Amino acid sequence: MKTYRDIFKWGDKRETIIDKGTITIIKEKFGYSDNDINQKHLYGEKEVILENKCCLGADIIEKFINIVGSDNLDTTDYARASHTYGKYYADLLKLRIGIVPTPPDAVIYPRSEDDIVKILEICNQHKIAVTPLGGQSSVTRGVETPLGGVSLDLTKHLNKVLEVNEINSTVTVQTGIYGPVLEEYLNNYGNKYSCGHFPQSFEYSTVGGWVAAKGAGQASTGYGKIEHMVLSMRVITPHGIIDTKTYPASAQGWDLQQLFFGSEGTLGVITQVTMKVRKYRPKQTKYASFIFKDFEAAVNAMRNVMQNGVGLPHLFRISDTEETEVAFKTKEFDGTFADKFLNTLGYKPGSRCLMFVAVEGSTSYTKQVISAVKKIAKKNGGFSIGSSPTKKWLEQRYSSAYLRDPLMDLGIMTDTLETAVMWDNLIPLWKAVRDYLKKREKTVVMVHISHVYENGANLYFTFLSPMKKGDELNEYAEYHRGIIETIQANKGSLSHHHGVGRTLAPWIEKELGTESIKIMQAIKDHLDPNGIMNPGNTLGLKP
Ligand SMILES: Cc1cc2nc3c(=O)[nH]c(=O)nc-3n(C[C@H](O)[C@H](O)[C@H](O)COP(=O)(O)OP(=O)(O)OC[C@H]3O[C@@H](n4cnc5c(N)ncnc54)[C@H](O)[C@@H]3O)c2cc1C
Repeated sequence: MKTYRDIFKWGDKRETIIDKGTITIIKEKFGYSDNDINQKHLYGEKEVILENKCCLGADIIEKFINIVGSDNLDTTDYARASHTYGKYYADLLKLRIGIVPTPPDAVIYPRSEDDIVKILEICNQHKIAVTPLGGQSSVTRGVETPLGGVSLDLTKHLNKVLEVNEINSTVTVQTGIYGPVLEEYLNNYGNKYSCGHFPQSFEYSTVGGWVAAKGAGQASTGYGKIEHMVLSMRVITPHGIIDTKTYPASAQGWDLQQLFFGSEGTLGVITQVTMKVRKYRPKQTKYASFIFKDFEAAVNAMRNVMQNGVGLPHLFRISDTEETEVAFKTKEFDGTFADKFLNTLGYKPGSRCLMFVAVEGSTSYTKQVISAVKKIAKKNGGFSIGSSPTKKWLEQRYSSAYLRDPLMDLGIMTDTLETAVMWDNLIPLWKAVRDYLKKREKTVVMVHISHVYENGANLYFTFLSPMKKGDELNEYAEYHRGIIETIQANKGSLSHHHGVGRTLAPWIEKELGTESIKIMQAIKDHLDPNGIMNPGNTLGLKP
């Protein structure tokens, strides 16, 4: 029997264990008893049986089967339900409750670009919605199918490395490739390379999703966001195929390739990209970690590093006070000798903040950057705590996300929101959003900065709070709306790397302006005249 739980469990499907430190926090902050720790809230153990069956006619299904073969088309309830949602908190709640009103009619696994061209022709002719998807790790309702239609899953076949060019330092891949497969291939190829893009969802997301949602990885401060890494791409649109050429840079009028970064499946299917690769030299990477007396001091040090031409850390990250406090508790650092020592130096719980730094490159470069960062940190009151906290953080950098499911099992709401902000607005925005989030009783709010620029940075909010049982979806929607409105009112961008999807679509016109939305719609209408590509308000586009 296939259950909803089989669908929503993220990461290692067996992951159910909450560490001792986190249990302590749950008891302390939320007042949970031992009994509460053993509860199973909205466990999603019902069998997946959908009310709405596939609506496509037998003739259409036959046409699709003639293209991809019967092994590559699935209309079972389980396949359709498991391609309905991504990983937004409300998606997970809906699966736990068993709400799947608009699944795709069919899931198709194209074997080639030619298959995609033919599938789009049929869908265009019959006005059938098409949703391209990769790892389905979208946190913005980007893969939902409000108008049914077909979900094109690229992960089964279109997942190969096509070419590595060591002279140009590039790799060309099919976009359904998952992060770890690409990285392992590059680490072992020729002179050894790395893709340089490590979102927290790395293990379960694809190159196509990185490009389509305009993502950022944990080494983005050194290597840039995905749009800084991709040199060219192929996109199959309902109107035709767009193949951009591979150049290091160009000045050929408008850079139309930029349209497809953040296009979120609304313009076409991105099937192939050529992207930069980096030398893989883990032994030369240098690490440092610091503790600061407060968040403002850590932010100042970070800004000074970015604005003083001392070279760029690749991983550059600060945890605010509460995130630092939680990190120390979960790692059982509180009360240790080291904790007491830091206290005597004035790095007190309730104000101190952690900073993690890693620099990649040649030995002389990494040495020079780390030494400059150390000087700047010291000038801002930072105390060096060695390389191991950063190394330890890197070891578990993906797994903390897998805690969400076991926390939700205990009836704990847990979600994240992120924004980009100029330096002069960063502290006011941080305070305003924290204040808003904290208005909810018993809420843990952890904030970090992990993508840093000369002129500003992102702020990433993680919040945990006991669910309001019985009304989980509505009360969350209300809370979530308030967070976005607070971000907008305090001059933060709608998104820095998660994209917009349908979750943030209601605010996009306010963010970009009416004229910009009209231009986006005109481009959409040209490339997708029948509005079949990921329709239903993605990016605020019609229909
Ligand atoms: C725990 C967690 C942590 C995360 N951390 C990060 C992070 O650190 N950085 C970050 O950037 N994001 C992060 N995300 C968000 C998400 O992982 C990214 O948006 C990721 O890039 C999506 O990739 P995917 O393959 O899962 O795409 P999907 O979720 O399958 O699709 C995302 C969007 O792209 C479209 N799409 C996918 N493939 C194609 C294609 N080939 N052609 C056209 N359109 C396509 C889809 O239609 C959809 O609109 C996180 C998500 C989770 C759940």
